[in-house]
Amino acid sequence: MILGDLVIIGGLLIFGLVGVFALVLEALWRMLRFAARPFTRAEHRARRQERTVYTRPVRLCANPLCGYLNPDNARFCARCGRPLEDSDVDNYG
Ligand SMILES: [Zn+2]
Repeated sequence: MILGDLVIIGGLLIFGLVGVFALVLEALWRMLRFAARPFTRAEHRARRQERTVYTRPVRLCANPLCGYLNPDNARFCARCGRPLEDSDVDNYG
């Protein structure tokens, strides 16, 4: 009788420990992915920007503080909103 009770209690204890271990692993995995998310996002953004810059003709923003490289068909700067005009492009680029 006592041995049977001990086996049941031990089994429950092991199940509980395994469950807690699984929860901790899950939490750690989620924290890791959450911490790595901004980094991977910035990487994706940089890759996309690179593609738009090097595969199309670009228009340099006339604002000296901005200097953003916009796609050739852009009418306004994507970063500061300044209208992109050909004379501005000639002056600065
Ligand atoms: Zn700009």
